Amino acid sequence: MAKYSDLASVQQAIREGQTSCKALVAFYLEQIKEHQHLNIYLEVFEEEALQKAAALDKKIQESPEKLGKLWGMVVSIKDVICYQGHKVSAGSKILENFESLFSATAVERILAEDAIIIGRTNCDEFAMGSSNENSAYGPVLNGINPQKIPGGSSGGAAVSVQMDTCLAALGTDTGGSVRQPAALCGILGMKPSYGRISRHGLVAYGSSFDQVGIFAHKTEEMALLLEVMAGADEYDATASKREVPAYSQTLEPLQQPSIAYYRSALEHPGLDEEIRTLMEQQLDEFRRAGYRVEGVDFKYLDYIVPAYYVLTTAEASSNLSRYDGVRFGFRDKEADSLEDMYTHSRTQAFGEEVKRRIMLGTFVLSAGYYDAYYTKAQKVRRLIAEETRRLLSDFDFLLMPTTPAPAWNLGEKTDDPVEMYLADIFTVQANMAGIPGIAFPVGKTGEGLPVGLQLMSNVFEEAKLLSFVKQLGY
Ligand code: GLN
Repeated sequence: MAKYSDLASVQQAIREGQTSCKALVAFYLEQIKEHQHLNIYLEVFEEEALQKAAALDKKIQESPEKLGKLWGMVVSIKDVICYQGHKVSAGSKILENFESLFSATAVERILAEDAIIIGRTNCDEFAMGSSNENSAYGPVLNGINPQKIPGGSSGGAAVSVQMDTCLAALGTDTGGSVRQPAALCGILGMKPSYGRISRHGLVAYGSSFDQVGIFAHKTEEMALLLEVMAGADEYDATASKREVPAYSQTLEPLQQPSIAYYRSALEHPGLDEEIRTLMEQQLDEFRRAGYRVEGVDFKYLDYIVPAYYVLTTAEASSNLSRYDGVRFGFRDKEADSLEDMYTHSRTQAFGEEVKRRIMLGTFVLSAGYYDAYYTKAQKVRRLIAEETRRLLSDFDFLLMPTTPAPAWNLGEKTDDPVEMYLADIFTVQANMAGIPGIAFPVGKTGEGLPVGLQLMSNVFEEAKLLSFVKQLGY
């Protein structure tokens, strides 16, 4: 149970003098020390966070009218999000000791509202993975049961909130990397619509999929962080210019929400029995509340993962070509020709999964196979996106499991990449279609492992989605 699960009570406790920003940061630093064995953080900004907290305490006393919206909020950032003057390694050896030259727009915006960043969290290398076992700095362990994976790729971010080392965390979600670990760790995780938050300052993986996401215990914190981070940005042409609603002020219950679910997902042979039961219970609850609930058919379910892995590996192979040992990052100093330097640097410093994806992506983009794989997968993406958006113009929400199974054992799927990829079956649709999704905890398995379901709405309907999740009690 988190000591603080919402910002309002943190701020109240500080105002009433029960605690201070400095004491709060000290509490979180203590929590970080206590959970070091989980390998959550790659770096803790201890001194800096304490100094910022002290400055904030002074501001509370001297000029409270100048406090930003996020004062009192302590946040962790995933190690793919740039923070000027701080290291960012994307969980990779290739960026070992690399320092950010500028801050991500998302980071700048939360700092401008007085959030305190406590450290950078471990993740799968270049955000490629579903279990956080692909980090060059060792796996992250699930705080509920350290034999189990926390999910990935934002595993450190999820556990940082799960284990009460900060109030909220920023991650990234290209194919489920926020919603999946949130579900496996028993907290809330949100991926906004593609383009809602600027990608400027994110280490790119699949640029037409990547999006900053948020982990928290409560809807209010997600809404507040989203409203602070979202909006147009001159540094990212894909960031939407659409007006940003005051999400935290519009969390009103919906009168007659309608919810669709895919029969093929609920009946999927790969779905764990306990998750199926919890999903059925949730649907029954909706029906009892008088909401319109309908099972619909979706014929593309089994095509989502293959198309996703063709497209994201293609984009990754291009994005990762900049790590060549020349301009920044790791360089093999023994190489005696230019070509050897490229080859050796990349061979030595990229992990196995990243190399697999670079090769796969290069293959699907190669002259002889481009049409057979890349063009075809683009067409499949278009079909999936259109069908999803059409469905969501008839229904307010789409309910899905977040994961086919609860957290698995460390090492259980590492020998079988395809099995690992298939674990993303329910999360990648939102990224393929660019729609927002929120994973929320619905219960636990007999073994005590958290289960999360997922609600999605149509593009840029975050306000409605957040309202409904709050209505469900979060
Ligand atoms: N597991 C998916 C992948 O490996 C999703 C990763 C992500 O969202 N960053 O691509």
